[in-house]
Amino acid sequence: LIQLAIPLNFIGFVYREIRQGLTDIEQMFDLLEVEQEVQDKPGAAALAVSDGAISFKDVHFAYDPARPILKGISFDVPAGKTVAVVGPSGAGKSTLSRLLYRFYDVQQGTITIDGQDVRDVTQKSLRSVIGMVPQDTVLFNDTIAYNIRYGRPGASDEEVTAAAEAAQIGPFIRHLPEGFKAMVGERGLKLSGGEKQRVAIARTILKSPPILILDEATSALDTRTEQEIQAALDVVSKNRTTLVIAHRLSTVISADEIIVLKDGVIAERGTHGELMQREDGLYASMWSRQREAVQAEERLKQVRESD
Ligand code: ATP
Repeated sequence: LIQLAIPLNFIGFVYREIRQGLTDIEQMFDLLEVEQEVQDKPGAAALAVSDGAISFKDVHFAYDPARPILKGISFDVPAGKTVAVVGPSGAGKSTLSRLLYRFYDVQQGTITIDGQDVRDVTQKSLRSVIGMVPQDTVLFNDTIAYNIRYGRPGASDEEVTAAAEAAQIGPFIRHLPEGFKAMVGERGLKLSGGEKQRVAIARTILKSPPILILDEATSALDTRTEQEIQAALDVVSKNRTTLVIAHRLSTVISADEIIVLKDGVIAERGTHGELMQREDGLYASMWSRQREAVQAEERLKQVRESD
């Protein structure tokens, strides 16, 4: 029986390892939102980044030919600058980031980085220079240190700790009984959306890419979390070309340019100050509606607290 128990045990172990492996691979694909829509051109060269300037020129795109999503979008993100894209839900904001990361190819127009069309370079080289902080980060069933180190597997413990601090997740980790060794993910500690996003930011700080895509979560955050995330984003986006799919006023205010997307075209563009001056503009009305919603929520909270 003992002779049989050992191999069975072993098979159980192997099964668990494989399951774990599969889960992680599935999660990794989710994490990268991998969809095998595009292929490298034969003999494609590696992307050579000098400044990391991004340019969208007359970009057209549809997931389904019957329903165009982007209808001639042109804008630049100059090297080291931040451009925020805002607009109604479903306007195609995240689609812009998916096209830049080349999950899909544009149907007309071009997207270039330092003058090189993203369709002409290898996907591997393209993705190695872009740090993606997605809306909802999927964590691996492993330690929090592993999840942060994923940004640069060779990073030392000190670098992982420094990245966590810069991403404003350090104090949270230090309060965990097991600290950086705490298990997270489906089978471990469940982190809130804001905590997961800071883990993603820490990962990106370690990866240290010249270009960043931030896809902010739509969910409302409390003021303190929002401030912490903003501080983390300020660290990671400093001197990096950054495209933000923005849902929060704090990110948008500091952007060098804001693109307001609606019905597949750029409806308005400018800085926060410029766009707020157009009182009947889409941007100004979007923020006044949001401000009213926040104020109403705060009043409700005060009423609840005084009960
Ligand atoms: P939100 O602010 O709600 O995140 P968004 O502006 O980022 O919205 P996108 O995610 O870019 O919007 O989606 C634009 C449109 O394309 C939506 O109507 C969406 O339903 C559609 N869409 C998105 N992904 C796909 C897909 N893989 N296949 C088909 N349609 C899609």
